[in-house]
Amino acid sequence: MEDSVDVQSAMKQRAPAVPEKNPGAISAQEHALKMKTENLNLWYGAKQALHDASLEIYDSSVTALIGPSGCGKSTFLRCLNRMNDVIDFVKIKGEVRLDGEDIYDKDVDPVQLRARVGMVFQKPNPFPKSIFENVAYGPRIHGTASNKTDLEEIVVKSLKRAGLFEEVKDRLDEMGTGLSGGQQQRLCIARAIAVNPEVLLMDEPCSALDPIATAKIETLMDELRESLCIVIVTHSMQQAARVSQRTAFFHLGKIIEVDDTTTMFTNPRDVKTQDYIMGRFG
Ligand code: ADP
Ligand code: MG
Repeated sequence: MEDSVDVQSAMKQRAPAVPEKNPGAISAQEHALKMKTENLNLWYGAKQALHDASLEIYDSSVTALIGPSGCGKSTFLRCLNRMNDVIDFVKIKGEVRLDGEDIYDKDVDPVQLRARVGMVFQKPNPFPKSIFENVAYGPRIHGTASNKTDLEEIVVKSLKRAGLFEEVKDRLDEMGTGLSGGQQQRLCIARAIAVNPEVLLMDEPCSALDPIATAKIETLMDELRESLCIVIVTHSMQQAARVSQRTAFFHLGKIIEVDDTTTMFTNPRDVKTQDYIMGRFG
């Protein structure tokens, strides 16, 4: 496991992400509250995976979810765009709000919700279609583009925002699955942002990538957060330290501690957080 020394040095390297006068601090005054969970409980059959998880998630920033394997990070993340709904033995209690509205309300259409709250997975999963069609897919099904020129514009803009356009502009009709792993993941990000989501959920988006591809995605997250609310699950504390402004520490299905990232890694309050950050378990 990673040790605290690495995390401390990662904190020092994250210069561009943190304005100097107020390192890492995120507050309601600076950023609007975007999502909020309140006493969220989730069961897989008889097994409870989340216990009263309450978290505030702010706009225009990156929130990192960290904690040992199996502590409920992915489960929690999937609750934010109702991806757990597709599992029929899942029971959920509590609230998840997006701009103040309960996303589990019966009037909310999960498909529309997932356009507002997009997701990028651990393993890049482009469709077996062309690069162009991967990105055009969402705008097509949501009817965002009114004509072909509009659609092309959205595809180009999304690929540019995802930092991929220059690498693929001469081969948009080639298969997305033929790209390198890092390019595939940026294609999946382009696909997710093509429908203009307000929130982007990322579940260990770099764990299948090499360090160079990882660095590209991390830089990208820092650019995207200006116009997006990002929630990332990461098993790497260094990554959380580099990319996020707020961090929540999960343990056995509970949120043990949440704070601005600098405080979390330099001055954690809870002994379990301290132990985890010091690499004593995990
Ligand atoms: P993490 O992402 O932190 O590693 P998960 O959210 O994947 O943790 O898992 C939390 C707990 O819920 C674990 O005990 C895991 O075994 C269980 N779990 C996750 N997904 C399912 C599922 N589809 N069915 C049953 N149990 C699950
Ligand atoms: Mg997980």
